Amino acid sequence: MTTNNDKYEILVKIAKKRGIFWPAFEIYGGVAGFYEYGPVGVLIKRRIIDEWLRQVVYGRDGLVVEVDTPIITPRIVLKASGHEDNFTDPVTECLKCGRTFRADHLIEEKLGISAEGLSLNRMAEIMRQNNIRCPVCGGELTPPKPALLLFKTEIGPYKGSPAYLRPETAQGMFVSFKNVFNSMRNKLPLGIAQVGRVGRNEISPRQGLIRLREFTIIELEFFFDPEKQEEEVNKYMDEELLDEKMNIITADMKLNNIKEPREYSALELIEKGIVKTPWMAYWMAVGNKFLRSLGIPADKIRFDEKLPEERAHYSEQTFDQEVLTEKYGWVEVAGYSYRTTYDLSRHIKYSSADLTVFRRYDKPREKEVIKIKPNSVEIRKRFANKFSEIMKALASISREELVNKIVKQGYIEVNGMRLDKELFFIKREKIKVHGEKFVPHVVEPSFGLERIFYVVLENSLKISNERTYLALTSRIAPYYVAVFPLVSGSKEEHQNIKNIAWAIYRGLLNSGLPAYYDEEGSIGRRYARADEIGIPYAVTVDYETLRNNTVTIRERDSRKQERISIKDIYDYIIDKIGFRKTWIEFLDKELNKA
Ligand code: AMP
Repeated sequence: MTTNNDKYEILVKIAKKRGIFWPAFEIYGGVAGFYEYGPVGVLIKRRIIDEWLRQVVYGRDGLVVEVDTPIITPRIVLKASGHEDNFTDPVTECLKCGRTFRADHLIEEKLGISAEGLSLNRMAEIMRQNNIRCPVCGGELTPPKPALLLFKTEIGPYKGSPAYLRPETAQGMFVSFKNVFNSMRNKLPLGIAQVGRVGRNEISPRQGLIRLREFTIIELEFFFDPEKQEEEVNKYMDEELLDEKMNIITADMKLNNIKEPREYSALELIEKGIVKTPWMAYWMAVGNKFLRSLGIPADKIRFDEKLPEERAHYSEQTFDQEVLTEKYGWVEVAGYSYRTTYDLSRHIKYSSADLTVFRRYDKPREKEVIKIKPNSVEIRKRFANKFSEIMKALASISREELVNKIVKQGYIEVNGMRLDKELFFIKREKIKVHGEKFVPHVVEPSFGLERIFYVVLENSLKISNERTYLALTSRIAPYYVAVFPLVSGSKEEHQNIKNIAWAIYRGLLNSGLPAYYDEEGSIGRRYARADEIGIPYAVTVDYETLRNNTVTIRERDSRKQERISIKDIYDYIIDKIGFRKTWIEFLDKELNKA
């Protein structure tokens, strides 16, 4: 029987042998928290990104667009976003061996309780009470203190200005929001997506692809008008999404010690008020469907609502999407946060840029405005020699402040002089207004690509006595089809067989289907190699091909073989991968609606 650890070992071995992934900088002994994708891993990673872009970004009725913004970020941006002050984890150091550890993780490992978001004092107390010591040498540990996770750098080689590597791509979307909004015809709701590398200087990462110091985030910031959220979500959320069933553990359930998730449809999440904005339910349903499409079974996916103390500083509500793994238990693969106006408001404050959006009213509304004018005759009478100084000072005060001070407080102080209400003409007028400015609200679904990559690989790895293979869903397989000439060696008819196989391989590649060619070793070995990297179909050219232009085509999971004509290979693969089925089903559904 294979245990979870054996299975992990097998996965790591295949990953290395077949070019999927391995620890980075290996010839120098490796550095914790850095991994590399090999030639096959790069392809699987790219297919997952493509699927995400197709389903989450471009397949959403024009709701979402994509950008690409810098990794190196000037300090002011991450000061404004709150990261410089809040993006920390609790670190504890061993007084004997000097190793550092994440205090909350040590507590979780030793006591089996969640320590996420506990105060530093509380963590110190728990460590003391339970005599938690260095897991490596048994030495005494210091009380936890905050460690900033941002990687520091400088812009400019000599006396450069301080900067950080971005810890998320999100700030790129906030900072560029106005340019994207303007270039996309000033319409809300608007999602801005990005796929990009980020850096987090994690404290002693020890969990392979799950906890890295440099990784890829695929995320989107979804900007919307909170006054129109119900009507707009109704427009975009179809029956299928409303009906998407998800396993949910709410914060309330956690407070009541209920550990088993409950199943809710997206519609129920909205109707029962579990989500603070219906757009949260929309994106959770999209994300649930996305993970299922990668082959993760629905019962291995759950959403865990974070308690207030577990949430990031910018979030009003957060659900972590978790997947059950054999190696690491439940692993967070994505976070869904309701960031409200937090980020845009902070950037407005720090940059003074106008990042608001104009909300046009359906009908013009009447609004009362207060007009204020200094009564110069009276002011001159009262402050003869200070008159022009006062008038100049009043001219530089905003209308809002004048109204605030004079109407609400009854007087205003100017250069140390008190001017009472009676020195002003105050008039109330009704005017028509056509709209108002507001700061859009934001919901963010944020996926960790390497974690998705890992859970997908672990979930696809099938091990039996006979063989080991990756049952990847076809669309994310590194290649859709392998092409083998049955023979090896250099006889003339062998050469013919090879030429045909090569032509088929090149033809598939040129027509845009990722194909793979292998003529080394026995056909059994070649099938085994293709199975281990998850290629769903294998075409074999043999002697019969020479007689009647047919090949065998073998399906990876069932190992069933069929004989088909060479010219049908392309259509066969397209059919099996499901492109044609998707096209026909989609058209049927949409045309029926129309
Ligand atoms: P966060 O912004 O912390 O919610 O992170 C977004 C997503 O990135 C998470 O849901 C994880 O999937 C992933 N992630 C966070 N930290 C790491 C890490 N150190 N290594 C790999 N993936 C990570």
